Amino acid sequence: MAIARCSGGGMPIGHKNTYSTRPHIPIGWPNSAVICGRESCRKPGLIWLTLEEEYAYDNGERIFELPTRSIKVLVK
Ligand SMILES: [Zn+2]
Repeated sequence: MAIARCSGGGMPIGHKNTYSTRPHIPIGWPNSAVICGRESCRKPGLIWLTLEEEYAYDNGERIFELPTRSIKVLVK
């Protein structure tokens, strides 16, 4: 499942074999509603896809799910 991390966070540690090495920029970034999934971070998030999701992306898929615990909403 895709995860969101800020641009300073880099690839999630421990996921090198299951996640793509290239992050994706969500629509509207850095003013999108996607926020970094790290517990105390409020920075705009980039999207890291699993290798399976990356394959789907390369074949045209553009909608991916994030785990519920990593979803935050920044209200301005
Ligand atoms: Zn962060």
